[in-house]
Amino acid sequence: MKLTEDPHRRLNALTNEWVLVSPHRTTRPWQGEVAPRPTASEPAYDPNCYLCPGNMRAGGTQNPAYATTFVFENDFAALKPETAHARLDVDNMGLLVAEAEPGICRVICFSPRHDLTLATMGLQEIELVVRTWVGQFRELGGLENINHIQIFENRGAMMGASNPHPHCQIWSTSSIPEAPSKELAVQRVYLKSHTRCLLCDYVALEQRQPVRVVCENDGFVALVPFWAVWPFEILVCSRRHFGSMNEFAPEEVQSLSDILHRVTSTYDKVFGVPFPYSMGFHQSPTDGIEHPECHFHAHFYPPLLRSAAIRKFMVGFEMLGTPQRDITPESAAERLRELAGAQPRHDKAGH
Ligand SMILES: [Zn+2]
Ligand SMILES: [Zn+2]
Ligand SMILES: [Zn+2]
Repeated sequence: MKLTEDPHRRLNALTNEWVLVSPHRTTRPWQGEVAPRPTASEPAYDPNCYLCPGNMRAGGTQNPAYATTFVFENDFAALKPETAHARLDVDNMGLLVAEAEPGICRVICFSPRHDLTLATMGLQEIELVVRTWVGQFRELGGLENINHIQIFENRGAMMGASNPHPHCQIWSTSSIPEAPSKELAVQRVYLKSHTRCLLCDYVALEQRQPVRVVCENDGFVALVPFWAVWPFEILVCSRRHFGSMNEFAPEEVQSLSDILHRVTSTYDKVFGVPFPYSMGFHQSPTDGIEHPECHFHAHFYPPLLRSAAIRKFMVGFEMLGTPQRDITPESAAERLRELAGAQPRHDKAGH
C-alpha cells in the first residue's frame, strides 16, 4: 500500500476512530489557490468591542482598564455552578437519560489590544496568557464540583468567533466531556497493555522519521498527526510526560508560548490571511484521581482547505460514515514546515 497514492484508512490511535484518506483526488493542497483577500486591519481599541478595556459588556458590567490579561465569568454561560446533581432515566430503560451538569464558564482576554492575536503577540505577552491558564486550571480544578477543565480558543468568523479581540474560553464541568473522555479511555488501555504512555511512544515514533513534524523546541513538538482529519490539523505534545499545566516546569511556560506563537504565525502564512481555527488543551481531569495515562497536549483544528475562501465541510459520507481527506497529512506537514522555517514576522508585536 502506498500512503501517497492509494486510497486507505488510517487509525486515530488516540480515539480508535478511522479517517479515510484519498490522496489521488488532489496533488498538492496549495494548487488552485485564489489570491489572498485583503483583510481590514483591526484598530488597537474598538469602542464597540465588549472585551476591550473600559467597555460595557452586554450583561451591563463594565470591564476594568486591564493592562495584561483579564478573566471574567461568561455573561451568557452555558453552565451554572449552582446546578444540583440529579439523574433522570425514564422507566429505568436507559433510553431517556439525562444528568444535571454543574459547571463554570469563563472568558480570558489575552491582551488589552483589540488587534493582536497569538500569532502577532510578543512572547512575553503570550507567557502571561499561559500563566493565567495555569492559575485558572489550579483554581477551578480545586473546586469540589469541577472534574474537568476545558480551555479552548475559537479564532475567526468561520469558526463562529464573532469578536476578533484575542480571547479564549474555559468551560469547567462536573463530567469529563466526550472528546477527552474517549482519548483518556484509549490511553488507559494502552498504558495497561504496554506499561508505557501512548503519546510518549507516538511522539518518539514520529521523531524517528520526522515527515509529519512541523516545528519543535525544548519543551514541545508540533506535528500533523498521522490520523489528521482537518487539512492542516496540528497536535502539540509536550516532550516530557506530564498530565496538566499544574505540572509545568518554569521553562515549559516559555516553550509552550514559543510553540503556540510558531504554530499560529505559520498558519497565518498558509493563505496569507489570519487563519481560523479551534484549538484547545487536553489534560488530566481534576477529579482527585491519579491519571498516569494522560499526556498533556493541544489540538488545532483549522477548517481551511485550498484557499482563504474554501473551507472543508464535514458532510455526506463524513457525517454518515467516516471523516475523509484528500491531501495527505504528510504533504500538509511539508507545506507547514516550509512556512514555519521562514523568519516569523513580529511586525505587530505590542512592545
Ligand atoms: Zn476589543
Ligand atoms: Zn506520555
Ligand atoms: Zn486530545
